[in-house]
Amino acid sequence: MSSLLVDNIGELVTNSVGAGGGGPLGLRHDAAVLVEDGLVAWVGPARDAPAADRRIDAEGAAVLPGFVDSHAHLVFAGDRAAEFAARMAGEPYTGGGIRTTVGATRAASDDELRATVGRLRGEGMRQGTTTIEIKSGYGLTVADEARSLRIAAEFTEDTTFLGAHVVPAEYADRPDDYVGLVCGPMLAAAAPYARWIDVFCERGAFDVDHARAILACGQAVGLGVRVHANQLGPGPGVRLGVELGAASVDHCTHLTDADVDALSGSPTVATLLPGAEFSTRSPYPDARRLLDAGVTVALATDCNPGSSYTSSMPFCVALAVREMRMTPAEAVWAATAGGAAALRRSDIGRLARGARADLMILDAPSYLHLAYRPGVPLIRQVLRNGVPQCRP
Ligand SMILES: [Zn+2]
Repeated sequence: MSSLLVDNIGELVTNSVGAGGGGPLGLRHDAAVLVEDGLVAWVGPARDAPAADRRIDAEGAAVLPGFVDSHAHLVFAGDRAAEFAARMAGEPYTGGGIRTTVGATRAASDDELRATVGRLRGEGMRQGTTTIEIKSGYGLTVADEARSLRIAAEFTEDTTFLGAHVVPAEYADRPDDYVGLVCGPMLAAAAPYARWIDVFCERGAFDVDHARAILACGQAVGLGVRVHANQLGPGPGVRLGVELGAASVDHCTHLTDADVDALSGSPTVATLLPGAEFSTRSPYPDARRLLDAGVTVALATDCNPGSSYTSSMPFCVALAVREMRMTPAEAVWAATAGGAAALRRSDIGRLARGARADLMILDAPSYLHLAYRPGVPLIRQVLRNGVPQCRP
């Protein structure tokens, strides 16, 4: 059994309440972390650190759990830079561009799709993301959804079947038939590669009856539920997610009091995706209202070629602090422990004995710098399962 000591940590975010005080981040100072067999074996004061086979000197910098990006669409081909430019010139975002990516994705080879996922996964890793959820949703045929998930599963355990992203053009005038396809042969082909099922429940995508039917079919074959909800306007998606016991409802940009009441006290996480509001020049979700109501909030990138083409969790943390009035501590917690909660994972998102040794060492003395120094590459080193990843 080989051991590794990450030593001389100036500020350690544990997300383990009671571990060292400092609020929900469980901050410790002058700390060390011992890693054995890919897991955290010990956390404590540097002066008490046990001996280890190898040592990484953090040189007084901050160390955090790796980011958990719980919402990403990485399996696609092409890009939509021209659509972004048109939006910045004043055209509104409607979600209709998804069909452009569907055409490009269907035409791409497996290797092209795999290369794109690998490139974006590498981008995220260099920015501290040690766990990522990856959705299908740009294939929208039985074969293309299954291969999207098969490729996604090469990169993560948290794969999500999103056959109900939009109704593809060939089913435009018979959406009931498409829902039948999603619940039948498409789900059967996708389920072996998927942990989760998701639906874009929004005007112009899937209404609440279709969304409920699709999610129930997924639950019946053992998939966990997540929902794209209330992004473009108010709607029933959030309450549907809570009703079905979803792990997370994502976007939550337009919420009524009834939506917030439903989330409050439920185990469903509200995952906010400020990269989408940034990239579509839309109003940000009201994070403070959710936090004040006691709702568990996560932050994720929504990385996709249309509405949020960023793989950067530090960028999302900075947006959440500046634009959504989250404190830096709330934003960092939401991007790590919050993401883990949104994936119903207790082995990640925290640095305590028994957790996976997924962590990042910053080129900064405090987690505060993630929001205080936006756009600056502050991730010096990333460990995943205790193994150093390629440096930026
Ligand atoms: Zn999304």
